[in-house]
Amino acid sequence: EIGSGPKLRRASRSAKVVYGTREVLVGGGAPVVVQSMTNTDTADVIGTAIQIKELARAGSELVRITVNNAEAAAAVPAIREQLDRMGIDVPLVGDFHYNGHTLLNDFPDCARALSKYRINPGNVGQGAKRDTQFAQMIEMACRYDKPVRIGVNWGSLDQALLARIMDDNARRPTPWSVQAVMYQALITSAIESAQKAEELGLAGDKIILSCKVSGVQDLIAVYRELAARCDYPLHLGLTEAGMGSKGIVASTAALSVLMQEGIGDTIRISLTPEPGGDRCKEVIVGQEILQTMGLRKFTPMVIACPGCGRTTSTVFQELADDIQSFLRNQMPVWKSQYPGVENMNVAVMGCIVNGPGESKHANIGISLPGTGESPAAPVFIDGAKALTLRGDRIAEEFQDIVLEYVKS
Ligand code: SF4
Repeated sequence: EIGSGPKLRRASRSAKVVYGTREVLVGGGAPVVVQSMTNTDTADVIGTAIQIKELARAGSELVRITVNNAEAAAAVPAIREQLDRMGIDVPLVGDFHYNGHTLLNDFPDCARALSKYRINPGNVGQGAKRDTQFAQMIEMACRYDKPVRIGVNWGSLDQALLARIMDDNARRPTPWSVQAVMYQALITSAIESAQKAEELGLAGDKIILSCKVSGVQDLIAVYRELAARCDYPLHLGLTEAGMGSKGIVASTAALSVLMQEGIGDTIRISLTPEPGGDRCKEVIVGQEILQTMGLRKFTPMVIACPGCGRTTSTVFQELADDIQSFLRNQMPVWKSQYPGVENMNVAVMGCIVNGPGESKHANIGISLPGTGESPAAPVFIDGAKALTLRGDRIAEEFQDIVLEYVKS
């Protein structure tokens, strides 16, 4: 079945993340969920609520916020209230490190307002305190009926567990490599913590696992083994993926390989924002990975040629960019008004060489005039030439044609 994409999803339990009437299913064959994380100070209620609203509008189906101190914990119910006023029902995930047991205990309204807790087993304390504090957090999750992501991270691995695995390894007749020891430590930390949580009373369908690393090949190796060793739903993400194209390419490379094998139930693209950059980009990249792989559809796709020496102006690049932004911006309204609109594709081509052919394959296509061609832009609708645009208003007129097509 050439080109058909992944046929099988890894079988996993299904975890439900709930806020009000909004239910987001993770695992159990549900569509892969796109999530993101704020980078505001959580204690800044308005700033954080605004960023959550933007992320949710961009398509983030879960939004994680750091809950790192008493001020942040106190702000969480107020953030939820602000979002309710704005009509944003995206479930919120609280990210806890070091003091989560105390914050969840001392701020019950925060514990209730969150729809899911993220616990990093490497950051819940050391020695005997570790088990007690981990148990306290699981007890809160049970009390408030919240799912938990046990999120292990390469950069904050449980040091006692790592030492234990290194000792065991030293006794092996053929010891594993240092890298293999690290992989085992990550996977063991996630699975043992999940088992511990179940022993403490948390239902198995309230647990999601992740083992994030920053290297593409490391992530693939770790998740292949993690996927084989448990049936918890998995959160995928390349941690510290980096800035700009590097972060996008690295995340896409790692996640595509895994998702093609059916591994991964929710994704987050951890891009370092460029100065003044838009936080929503991580949501758009996540959606585009899923859509270009044929796993989900979020927004009509624009097919555009790269342009070359035959391109007479930048009009076609601007048109492609404008149409993609226009379509994406309409989607929050369109997806309920025009069901199926996300299946549409639009071609914007720079000249006659591939223009008409590519345009005929799209729902709507336009072929702009290249060097030496007559100053006319034929428009194709559902495979047939429908009209020709000329003059200075080609971009506006083409946008109107796209809009009419969607309405019809
Ligand atoms: Fe160049 Fe025309 Fe091909 Fe676009 S369609 S890349 S302008 S030859």
